[in-house]
Formats: sequence, C-alpha cells, structure tokens
Amino acid sequence: MSDFITRFAPSPTGLLHLGHAFSALTAYEAARAAGGRFLLRIEDIDLARCKPEFEAAIVEDLAWLGLGWESPVRRQSAHFPEYARVLESLASRGLVYRCFKTRREIAEEIGRAPHHPGEGPEGVIYPGPAEPMSEEEEEARLAAGEAFAWRLSMRACREHLGARFDRLSFIEEGEGPEGEHGEVAARPETLGDVILGRKDVGTSYHLACTHDDALQGITHVIRGQDLFFATHVHALIQALMDWPAPRYRHHRLLLDEEGRRFAKRDRSLTLRALREAGETPQTIRARAGI
Ligand code: GLU
Repeated sequence: MSDFITRFAPSPTGLLHLGHAFSALTAYEAARAAGGRFLLRIEDIDLARCKPEFEAAIVEDLAWLGLGWESPVRRQSAHFPEYARVLESLASRGLVYRCFKTRREIAEEIGRAPHHPGEGPEGVIYPGPAEPMSEEEEEARLAAGEAFAWRLSMRACREHLGARFDRLSFIEEGEGPEGEHGEVAARPETLGDVILGRKDVGTSYHLACTHDDALQGITHVIRGQDLFFATHVHALIQALMDWPAPRYRHHRLLLDEEGRRFAKRDRSLTLRALREAGETPQTIRARAGI
C-alpha cells in the first residue's frame, strides 16, 4: 500500500447532490489509482444546521454509489476539546484575539474605513481592529458574559513568522479557479482576520479541517475549487502549528444544465431524487464524467 491518504469531508446539513458525488468519486478514484486510503470525515461542527438524519443519508448514498471507506468515521462534533487545544496554543502565542463584535458592528466598522477592504472570496473581509482592545475592556466584557469569536490576527502572524509569512505556499496538483497549478504562493491576508473559533461552537471550519487533515495524515486534499481560497489560510495554520502540508487537488465544480453550481436548493439533483427517478450508480458516474 502506498502512503497516499485522502478524504471526503461533507457537512451533514442536507442531502448529497450530484456535485458532492463528483467530489467523493474523484477522491475515491484517486485513492484507488494510487493504491492508497480513502477516509470519510463528517464535518458537523455546526450543531444547529447538521442533522443525524443527513449523516445517515450521506453514508447510505455513498455506499449506494459503491464507495467504501475505513472505520471508525471521524465525526468532528465528538472532538471539540481537541480544537480548543489548538486555539489555546495559538492564543498563548498571541496569534488569535477575542472579537466581541456583531456582524452588524463589523459591517459598520468596515464601511467607515478609508480603504474599504470589500468582499473577499469568503464574504466580507475583516482586516482587524484599528486598535487592540484594552485589557480592562476585555475583562469587563468577559465578566459580563459577552459572547466572542476567536480571530486569527494576520498582523501577529506576519510578526511571528517573519520572512516566512511572505514565502508561504502550497502545492496544487489540480487547478485553482484561475488555472493555478504547481507551487502557489499563499496569501492568507487577502481573507482578513478569519474566525478560528466561532461564537457558538468555539471552533471553525478552517481550524477543525486543518487539525484533522494533520491528525489523520491526509497526504492529498481533493476538493472543489470553491475551497481554493480557504487553502491560503490552511497553509498559514499548518505553518503556525508545524503541521505537515498535504498536497492539494482542487477540482472544477460540476455545473447544472443552466451552468450554475449545484446547491442544496436543487432538490431534483440530490442523489436521493436521482435514485428514486431510476438512475443507477453507473448513470451517476456518467453524469459526473467519472
Ligand atoms: N466540509 C466542507 C464542505 O462540505 C468540505 C471540507 C473540505 O473538503 O475541506 O464544504
């Protein structure tokens, strides 16, 4: 067996659609071609949106498609204390800070900025506060029980890593949305001070995903191009935590007949609906071009 390990990491917030099937099959076939391992990871940190019935449907749909994976399956919601330890490590080095602001306050703050940071690939970019919060204010807010998110300070990361910050990169074996391939310079600052610990669950996609990729020894991350920009932040987190950097294969996004990305709203294109309409794993593969 080779040392190739990849994963499919869906969030059980709805039924899988054709786009997910394409992603899962791409990763599964890559592992098979390399004589490697294929893992399924359930990314269910969003306790409000993830549902056990969707997780059960994912398992059933993937098995129906003919995929097999190792057990036990890692379910992120069972590992919150591990993610909290990563935040502690970053906090002890001053790389993350508590942000008590609401979405609206951030929008207003950004609106007042002389150089409007605008929208990044992941929505509004928050470049961080003009001044760090005073210790007194932070203590008062904590004492009052105010909720906060942990944000990664790009300024602190730059100071911490020095010249390494500008040399961060990742290996793209697939293709980014603009044809990026090979060694890609990582520019995490273009996403602003991203949230690593959400107010509600204390972790975030970026943190849980990079932690688990490292823990599970993922050598190849195979996923859609919609997550290409997240990889810029992932490369930074890997450098800060001294985690090995997997190789990345971002794949094109499967589009529907109108040329739009598949979304949870396209009920008719869920694997469930397609199967009920008489499609087989073979016709699904043919639709996905795999
Ligand atoms: N859980 C993420 C999603 O469903 C994918 C994570 C990844 O592949 O890195 O969009």
